Order: sequence, then C-alpha cells, then structure tokens
Amino acid sequence: MESTWGEGEFDVTVFSDRSEDEERKFLDTYVQWHQQKLAAGFAAITWPVGAGGAGLTIAHERAFTELEAQYDVPNDHELISVTTKLIAPAIEKYGTTAQIEQYGRTFLRADEFCCQLFSEPGAGSDLANLSTRAVRDGDRWVLNGQKVWTSNARIAPWGFAICRTDVDVPKHAGMTAFLVPLRHTGVVVRPIRQMNGGASFNEVFFSDAVIDDDLRIGAVGHGWKVALDILGFERDSSGGSGRSGGEFEDLLGLARHMERTDDVVVRQGLARVYTTNRVREWARSRAAASARLDGAPGPEGSIGKLLWTEDMRHISEVASSLLGAALTADTGEWGTYAWNDHVLGAPGYRIAGGSDEIQRNIIGERVLGLPREPRVDRDVAFKNAPR
Ligand SMILES: Cc1cc2nc3c(=O)[nH]c(=O)nc-3n(C[C@H](O)[C@H](O)[C@H](O)COP(=O)(O)OP(=O)(O)OC[C@H]3O[C@@H](n4cnc5c(N)ncnc54)[C@H](O)[C@@H]3O)c2cc1C
Repeated sequence: MESTWGEGEFDVTVFSDRSEDEERKFLDTYVQWHQQKLAAGFAAITWPVGAGGAGLTIAHERAFTELEAQYDVPNDHELISVTTKLIAPAIEKYGTTAQIEQYGRTFLRADEFCCQLFSEPGAGSDLANLSTRAVRDGDRWVLNGQKVWTSNARIAPWGFAICRTDVDVPKHAGMTAFLVPLRHTGVVVRPIRQMNGGASFNEVFFSDAVIDDDLRIGAVGHGWKVALDILGFERDSSGGSGRSGGEFEDLLGLARHMERTDDVVVRQGLARVYTTNRVREWARSRAAASARLDGAPGPEGSIGKLLWTEDMRHISEVASSLLGAALTADTGEWGTYAWNDHVLGAPGYRIAGGSDEIQRNIIGERVLGLPREPRVDRDVAFKNAPR
C-alpha cells in the first residue's frame, strides 16, 4: 500500500525488538484479525470445507493475499504464520483424529501458538543430522538435547520438535515428530540477542523432559517426511507477498524525499528492486500452478524464497546508499532511521527457513535435475555416520 511521506507509522522492521508484553499485544491484534478472516472463510482458503477451510485453490489464496496487502490491516506475525500455516497443516495431515480436534484446530484458529523446534547446534542445513534424543518409556517419551534459533519460543506454549528416536538406522529413517509443551519440567528456554537488539529467537534445552505418546505426530520413524512437508510449507509461505520489512513503494518514497530519483545509480537500484519484485510474483504464480497440479507445494517454492531474500537485500542496499550516515543515528526524522532495522534484520532471512545456498541446491537438484550432492552417510546407521 502506498504511504504518504510523513504520515502514519513507518515500519520497515524485519525482526522486531519488542518487550514480551508488547509482543503479546501485537499478537492479540493480529489474532483477532486472523479469527475474523477464518470465520469469513478467508484464513484457510485451501483447507477442506469440513476442516475449517474454504476448499479453494492456492490461486484463490494468492489472489486474496494480494488483495489484502492493498489494505491497512494488522501486520502478520511470524509466530502466527508458523502456527497456522506450518504446524496446523502438518497436524491435519499426520495427526490422529483426536490430535486434529485438540491441537490442529486450536493452532489453525491461533488460540494457542506453536514454534518450530528443528535446528540444533549440529543440524541446520543438514537437518537430518539432528541428535536430540527421544527415548520410549512405555507410553511416554523422554527427551534430552538442545534446539537452537527457535523463533518465539519464549511466547509459544508449544513447540513442534523433530527428535532422534533410532540411532541404528540411517539418519533420515530414525526421526519422529512430537508436540512438546514448553512450560514443562525439564524444558529451559533461553533468548539469543540479535544484532538489531531484539531477541526473537532462543535456545531450548531438554533435560529428561517427559511427554506422553499421544503428543507424537505421525508414525515412529516418519519424522523426516513430516519435517520435509513443514519446510515445503515454510518456503512457500516465506516467498509470499507479506509486507514484512518494507516494499518498493517505501523505498521510492524515500528516494523522492531525498530528491535522488534523477540519480542514475539510485534509479538502477530502484529498477532492480522493482524487477525482482515482479519476477517474484511470476515465480509465485508458477509455484502456485504447479502446487495446484501436484496438490502440495513443490521445490519451486525455493525460487520464491530466494527472490524474496534477494529483494530484501537490494532494498537494504538502496536504502543504505540513500541515507548514508542517517542510517546510523536517529535524527527523529520520519521514515529515515527506521531503515536501520531493515538493514540489520534482512540478512536473517537469508539463513532462516533454509539458507540461500540450500535453496540453490534444491533448485539445482530438484527443479533443474542436476546431479545430487554426494551423501556419504546415506546408507550408514546414524550412530556410525561420520560427524
Ligand atoms: C532469524 C532466524 C530464525 C530462525 N528460526 C528458526 C526456528 O524457528 N526454528 C528452527 O528450527 N530453526 C530456526 N532457524 C535456524 C535456521 O533454520 C538455520 O540457521 C539454517 O537452516 C542454517 O543452519 P545453520 O545455522 O546450522 O548453518 P549451517 O548449516 O552450519 O550452514 C553454515 C553455512 O554453510 C552453508 N552450507 C551448509 N551446507 C551447505 C551445502 N550443502 N551447500 C552449500 N552451502 C552450504 C550455509 O548456506 C551457510 O552459509 C532460524 C534462523 C534464523 C537466522
């Protein structure tokens, strides 16, 4: 949506630096909007009608998202996207009827929040290398290990964890998915400070944390399949048309205000942002069309994610060159120092949800059909694999 210079709130933040109370207030506002949309059939457009959705296609969903972006509606929050667009669909797909009723629908409505407990100190790009153990003890599981970079774990009461349940089989076969209550004996959440000053992500430690088997999502040993689906949903939604971090119009407004629209270098930068944006829209259309045929987001979502992070990088570069020193000191002038948050936050999304390099690997291997990277531990039991 185009803003008028100097009017209203100017926010191009990528990762917020809010207190816990402010974060909760922000979430409340968006949850109200989300639930209004859900009741009107617009928040789960592609879900089956009986499951709380509208039973329509990804193209319908995309059309709605684009229309919504033209209005002044509450800003989305990453935790709500993770809860409603990543975890809820995974429970809908892999959960039992009871789990769908109890957790799937709760998460779809965002009545409660759930964060994503995937990455570990030794498992990020190579997620299947994860070593947080879940050991069966009758109809319960005992969790030990550490997750890291867990966004919003301080606020979410639930985490969706992929754990190692079998070390005697190759790494992809020995994982299982669980819903884990985070305010629970044996679970410790510690915030990590980011370079913009905020602490939206955390370390999460499990020390003999005991959970019931009815919190296992999907069959034992099927965790990799569940994780891949969630990562597919994530790539698909992160390449979306959300407003997080500013847009071409914000940048153009800044260039006009600084009277730099005649500067050839600035013009080139603006053109690059504009064209990346358009190419991203077309890539999203193509991914949506292919998802319509296959019924699920495919590897093409990686192109959208990559173009989104490229876009943010170009936006940061142009804003930095326009603002110079004004980027580093707050003069109180509307719409200037706020870009500092963008510049410090944008690099995070080049890593989060699978780094740019990993998206390129996915495109190379699974879209272009290039030879796969060598995988030396493919057929080796996890406990014997080189690490
Ligand atoms: C802002 C933010 C939020 C996050 N939120 C969450 C969250 O909520 N939950 C969660 O589970 N995780 C989260 N993460 C973690 C994120 O998923 C990982 O950081 C990411 O997958 C990269 O893993 P890593 O940090 O272990 O880096 P590594 O995997 O160690 O990679 C280090 C570098 O090597 C490159 N590299 C690695 N392997 C290859 C390869 N095969 N080919 C080419 N290059 C390669 C990478 O691109 C990267 O540049 C978040 C991260 C960030 C930055």
